[in-house]
Amino acid sequence: MRHLVRSVPQTCPGPSSHLSPLSSAGRQNYDLLVIGGGSGGLACAKEAAQLGKKVAVVDYVEPSPRGTRWGLGGTCVNVGCIPKKLMHQAALLGGMVRDAPHYGWALQPVPHDWTTMAEAVQNHVKSLNWGHRVQLQDRKVTYFNIKASFVDAHMVCGVSKGGKETLLSAEHIVIATGGRPRYPTHIEGALEYGITSDDLFWLKESPGKTLVVGASYVALECAGFLTGLGLDTTVMIRSIPLRGFDQQMSSLVTEYMASQGTRFLRGCTPSRVQRLPDGQLQVTWEDPSSGKEDTGTFNTVLWAIGRIPETRSLNLEKAGVHTSPTSQKILVDAQETTSVPHIYAIGDVAEGRPELTPTAIMAGKLLAQRLCGQSSDVMDYENVPTTVFTPLEYGCVGLSEEEAVARHGEEHVEVYHAYYKPLEFTVAERDASQCYIKMVCLRKPPQLVLGLHFLGPNAGEVTQGFALGIKCGASYAQVMRTVGIHPTCAEEVAKLRISKRSGLDPTVTGC
Ligand code: FAD
Ligand code: NDP
Repeated sequence: MRHLVRSVPQTCPGPSSHLSPLSSAGRQNYDLLVIGGGSGGLACAKEAAQLGKKVAVVDYVEPSPRGTRWGLGGTCVNVGCIPKKLMHQAALLGGMVRDAPHYGWALQPVPHDWTTMAEAVQNHVKSLNWGHRVQLQDRKVTYFNIKASFVDAHMVCGVSKGGKETLLSAEHIVIATGGRPRYPTHIEGALEYGITSDDLFWLKESPGKTLVVGASYVALECAGFLTGLGLDTTVMIRSIPLRGFDQQMSSLVTEYMASQGTRFLRGCTPSRVQRLPDGQLQVTWEDPSSGKEDTGTFNTVLWAIGRIPETRSLNLEKAGVHTSPTSQKILVDAQETTSVPHIYAIGDVAEGRPELTPTAIMAGKLLAQRLCGQSSDVMDYENVPTTVFTPLEYGCVGLSEEEAVARHGEEHVEVYHAYYKPLEFTVAERDASQCYIKMVCLRKPPQLVLGLHFLGPNAGEVTQGFALGIKCGASYAQVMRTVGIHPTCAEEVAKLRISKRSGLDPTVTGC
């Protein structure tokens, strides 16, 4: 029988043990063992099981330093995409409530209640946790709620919350352990008084006046919805916003946020967090431009300064799996194979991969198909679309203007652009100064599209469709032959006539 688990009374071998399932018992318990039940791991496990493999998934959530814990499904479901998008939606609704009187709705002032929102969001997340468990059961994937580490290249030891140890072995092992938010190590009071995105979505009470430290996806998205919910919110940026994104678009994102009330402290880094007698947090920061220290008081300090891959507790050296000395992420090739031929790594834990749910899922599914001999397709990480869910959403696919110029030279790049006004902003008298689109193309006909950048409502929905065109090698000429859907914001993409080079005013006027 292949489908065996050796569990208590057998305990996990200590550091000096050489026990191997192959040498000691000559058998392998699973065809595939997946470590990490998040976006990539669950997708891989379910696909492999559907294709007839004996599969086990182990997942374990180490509570955050604040003690926050959650269920099966990984970052996206519990402390990422899902609660984030729902809270973003809560904030957008606030904007619609403000628009409503212009459209004839006689509304009283509507206060927002964090506790009600958080409870609803958390209940939805719990229903997704349950849904994942049911799906694993339906597909006959064995699930263990244990924290795994390698014993050797074929065997993994898992420890449950109560200390029970389980040994699992498999022919193939997939590491999909994701990452966790990083805390600063050199700032007094950072760990003691600060929280991260792992805690924010599970707060039962409003975080109140909040300082968000960091300037990338997590920082700007969280600051955006906190502002939209009516909270006094400050973002501390040490360098530039949204590093790696098109910088013109990034500036427009933060300009819009500032117009909506988010405060920005630029070029500053915190040096100390202290709790005052009244319970508030006093943050001291350095402003290199003035050379001075400054302070401010907040109810909450949210660290959004990047993520650390979950490789530290895996005992990877026991299996011979190599990691990058700089990022600590697992080194993989195009097949997602690590330095050990039967061990793979997918998703956020793998070096050089975008930290996005759909890429982790697709990589996991394709890996399962290859392992089952169903396909030889490898994941294509080119032209992955993404959206930053800031108050004015920013969707993009392909190259930024800077990247296109660096790769092809300025004289070979044509950028078409437009400032437009979403129809729904007109009656509501909303400012649309930052609603902007640009398409980065090769200059030579038929002008292959290299990148599309869209700032406006529903950017994710708009970008998804155009991503298909760009994946298929669309040219500017083909986009111009695409008939728009009127009246939408997306149709503005198919109407981009003004090139930056022409110097003409890119503001869209009329219908
Ligand atoms: P994860 O989903 O992180 O899953 C890893 C799992 O492994 C976890 O459950 C972890 O507890 C478990 N684990 C770790 N170590 C062990 C161990 N030793 N033993 C057993 N289990 C272990 N992406 C998007 O595409 N769109 C978004 O809108 C978006 N929003 C985000 C918002 C926030 C605030 C954050 C933080 C991320 C967001 N992301 C978003 C990124 C997305 O969540 C991740 O890219 C995705 O979840 C990565 O999937 P994964 O399978 O690699 O790892
Ligand atoms: P990132 O690694 O993308 O960014 C980290 C940010 O923190 C940068 O702005 C960085 O500034 C800043 N920073 C780092 N260290 C410090 C420090 N010591 N003091 C002050 N600032 C600091 O991390 P995120 O956590 O924002 O995002 C992680 C990944 O999660 C993203 O790459 C994305 O793939 C994924 N994600 C996706 C989302 C989506 O699809 N909508 C939403 C959220 C996350 P600097 O530029 O100066 O280094």
